[in-house]
Amino acid sequence: METSRRSFLKAGGLCTLGLASLPAADALAQAALPKVMANPTALVGKKWGMVIDMKKCWEKGKEGCKDCVNACHVTHNVPDIGNVKEEIKWIWQDEYEHAFPGQATHYNEEFIHGKKFILLCNHCTNPPCVRVCPTKATFKRKEDGIVMMDFHRCIGCRFCMAGCPYASRSFNFKEPRPFIKTELNQTFPTRERGVVEKCSFCEERLAKGQIPACVEACKPGALVFGDLEDPKSEVRKLLASHYTIQRKLELGTGPNIFYIV
Ligand code: SF4
Repeated sequence: METSRRSFLKAGGLCTLGLASLPAADALAQAALPKVMANPTALVGKKWGMVIDMKKCWEKGKEGCKDCVNACHVTHNVPDIGNVKEEIKWIWQDEYEHAFPGQATHYNEEFIHGKKFILLCNHCTNPPCVRVCPTKATFKRKEDGIVMMDFHRCIGCRFCMAGCPYASRSFNFKEPRPFIKTELNQTFPTRERGVVEKCSFCEERLAKGQIPACVEACKPGALVFGDLEDPKSEVRKLLASHYTIQRKLELGTGPNIFYIV
């Protein structure tokens, strides 16, 4: 009896020690982790969006200029595959009739017909691409609404491409690295075959306090980026003072790219 009591007390003591040591172990592990501090100069917003003044873009002619496209693709090591079927695009141009199929009429076509629009991911408020992704490789950031891609999680199923009604996503049918024609940006990851990619609103630049590369490159100031939730932001002022259109608004995706025409 004495032996079993002693064993019981010993076991109980070990348990107590074990339980008591768990929070201590956690605390030690936490202390060993490097502290991640937010960059105080980072640009922060509750819901990032963009207003594109196409009138300014067309100042150089109905083809518009491609400075924004070039800046984005250089910044993000976007490959130039050389054929339309397999092209990789983060920001691109297309004609009004294709970009706004529900809004083109015989009458507005007269002034807008054949003009090229600047297109990119709409960072939708209700993004169907996020809903259909089986691995959560694409997700919407709660803090600022950016629809992100985790290239490492992407299994290449392309459900997101089927879900996106704006063709904002591209699939790497082949190894993209040999097709990067510009000098490699060593600070941004390249992708690999079988992975989907798209615009990320330059979240890596925002984290360093920089505006998106396309906005910075746009000399006429046609691209304006800002916080849609901030009534004092430039984007909100433009929305309050101009009539704007959005792509396929009727689908309920809540696109956050607005166009002044
Ligand atoms: Fe997703 Fe397409 Fe909307 Fe971008 S535009 S958030 S890829 S559905």
